[in-house]
Amino acid sequence: MRRFSYAVVICLLVIGPMRFSSLAMAEPYGRVNPIVQQIVAAISEERIAENLKKLESFQTRHTLSDPTHPTRGIGAARTWIFEQFRSYSPRLQVSFDTYFVRKQGQRLVRDVELRNVVAVLPGTRQPERRILICAHYDSLAIVRGPDGQVDWTQTDVFAPGVTDNGSGTAAVLELARVLSQYEFEKTLVFVAFAGEEQGLVGSTLYAQKARREGQIIEAVLNNDIIGSDIAGDGASANRVVWVFSEDPADSSSRQLARYVKRIGELYVPAMRVEMIFRHDRFGRGGDHTPFNHEGYAAVRLTTPNENFAHQHSATDTFANASPAYTTLVTRINAAVAATLALAPKPPVVTTERGLPLLGRGRSGYAAHLRWRNEDPEPDLAGYVIVMRATTAPDWEREIFVGSVNEYVLEGVSIDAVTFGVKAVDKDGNESLVSAYVNPPRLRATFELYDPGERRQ
Ligand SMILES: [Zn+2]
Repeated sequence: MRRFSYAVVICLLVIGPMRFSSLAMAEPYGRVNPIVQQIVAAISEERIAENLKKLESFQTRHTLSDPTHPTRGIGAARTWIFEQFRSYSPRLQVSFDTYFVRKQGQRLVRDVELRNVVAVLPGTRQPERRILICAHYDSLAIVRGPDGQVDWTQTDVFAPGVTDNGSGTAAVLELARVLSQYEFEKTLVFVAFAGEEQGLVGSTLYAQKARREGQIIEAVLNNDIIGSDIAGDGASANRVVWVFSEDPADSSSRQLARYVKRIGELYVPAMRVEMIFRHDRFGRGGDHTPFNHEGYAAVRLTTPNENFAHQHSATDTFANASPAYTTLVTRINAAVAATLALAPKPPVVTTERGLPLLGRGRSGYAAHLRWRNEDPEPDLAGYVIVMRATTAPDWEREIFVGSVNEYVLEGVSIDAVTFGVKAVDKDGNESLVSAYVNPPRLRATFELYDPGERRQ
């Protein structure tokens, strides 16, 4: 007995402190980070309302409206956005991203000098990794001729565009103001796009340039139509936001959508994030899609309660908008962008040749997961394995496995379960999930021969 209690005492002495610290870190994720909480709380409804009124005051922000008028049109609007960004912090690098675009198609009725407005908050430790928060600032009011056809040459009519998309622009501005008061490991990029209403022109040119330059963009949060909470048929859901993400089920955009739901609802519990498994609303477009085309994770945040009577019309005004709703959606953006920008990079779950690092283990009946992280962050706490049934929309189970680079789940079939891994730091900031994707079986072709002929 005596010997046993000695052993217990020795165990407590030796293992006690270690056990304590490992217990303290047993679940370093899924809890709030006070800094992120502070950022979310700093998002101001008054500021957002002021931004909306100011954007309305330009009367039109049509991409082909007068660029030289001091108070009306796209020129005055982009100058104001530029100056706003500049006023928030000397650490924001503000510029115009300018393109001279030839007239084409129905909507670009003449050549135009198009300017996106960009504000960059450089990251401290992983500045090459970017998080984009964006919205289009151009507006449109549709004018129909006597034949009922849209007259696309009417580029200077009253087009207040408060919900579409003053709301997204007001959110991006407010996010730049608040987030630029803090430091992040990764780079945050705030972009107001032009030319959305002419066919996603500004975002397409930006995304293609980013790809050409080999930019690493971890996530694109596109905010478009986040200004209304009562639909034209009276339906209302002012505590819900839709997040659209492209297929397939484990695309990087889908992981980002799951992340928006998890982190958004963690920090803004008043809101429900409803994932829609589609690249966008039926038959309609948005500025996240050009980023999808270039292989980036990009989602759209939008209201489930659009008023179609106001969209692209002279009645898309401040009076018909809901700054309180826009504020809630902006807070979700703040939580997601801040957490991602503080978090470690996602682990790599494929070989250099792109094959999934997933096997059946030594027993042949296990799930053996491996992952790579070439340059682990100094504040890395470890990794979390996530699991779900192949038919489940979201991750169902999580296992924190510590600072290792492989893990074996004995008796778990890799055929029936989808796995992923994420990295977590000591403050609980978690990365996007990297999922193990079953490589497609390629279509085979076989050559036939005529048995009557002799082969040479
Ligand atoms: Zn829009």
